[in-house]
Amino acid sequence: MSTTFGITFLGTSAAVPTVKRNVSATLVTYRDLKWLIDCGEGTQRQITRAGNGFKNLTHVFLSHEHLDHILGMGGLLATFNMLQPVKRLAVYGNPATLGRVRQMAGFIGRSLQYDLQWHEISEGLIYTHRQLDCYAFATKHRVKRSYGFVFQEKPRRRFQPEAAERLGIPPGPERRRLLAGESLRGANGQIVRPDDVLGPEEPGKKLVYVSDSMYFDGLTEAAAGAHCLISEATFLQADAELAAEVGHMTAAQAASVARDAGVEVLYLNHLSQRYAQAEHLFLEEARRIFPNTHLANDLESITV
Ligand SMILES: [Zn+2]
Ligand SMILES: [Zn+2]
Repeated sequence: MSTTFGITFLGTSAAVPTVKRNVSATLVTYRDLKWLIDCGEGTQRQITRAGNGFKNLTHVFLSHEHLDHILGMGGLLATFNMLQPVKRLAVYGNPATLGRVRQMAGFIGRSLQYDLQWHEISEGLIYTHRQLDCYAFATKHRVKRSYGFVFQEKPRRRFQPEAAERLGIPPGPERRRLLAGESLRGANGQIVRPDDVLGPEEPGKKLVYVSDSMYFDGLTEAAAGAHCLISEATFLQADAELAAEVGHMTAAQAASVARDAGVEVLYLNHLSQRYAQAEHLFLEEARRIFPNTHLANDLESITV
């Protein structure tokens, strides 16, 4: 299967940055679209270090108002004012999150040089595009409202070059017209319809991002059938009680979600610095339940 989403982990530590891991932020790309999910302190520098640049970065999805997920917004908004890499930036979050980020935006001295938009989110569709939809789903954390995000590519039909060849449609503008949904005349004067050169419908890719949350059944529902699940795994199972108390998950719980939801691959994210010397334990614990588990590491990119 071909590549659909690009994901770059910018910050994979919980609460505080460590030598190896910055606080929460992840970049998602789809064609020429780019989203930042969460924006902990120092995120703009992580974007630069990852070689991604700010071009096309027009959407920021914020999971909740804790500072390790939003404190980088002040710097990012100020830099966007100076460099103006985009004309428009849309920030998505719950009311408490938007309130805090609006305050940060207020610290920027001169008037805003780009169109900054605020989108209050609740569960359900939050963004739609010709080829994909983004949904927010509720997570359970120590705040009134917190969210995870689903990126769902719409079903698609692939162009079949052999079929076009057979019907006498050469590469070029005529094929583009067919792809745009137009019918036209083939080499022998016959009508060629888009259906004649498109393969069967294939389901789109699904990417699911679980930001801060304790374990609950709704996560399995949200992640059902995902090609890739990125999930917080702040604690190890030995500290499961503490995890639940502070609204977080263990590696074993994230792995159970991946297994029960039937996902293809799991990335563990938002690791507590308390285990910095024993990170291999996250993988060992999770792989006993869901073998295709990996650790999200700062500045690493994956494709889905
Ligand atoms: Zn957090
Ligand atoms: Zn939090």
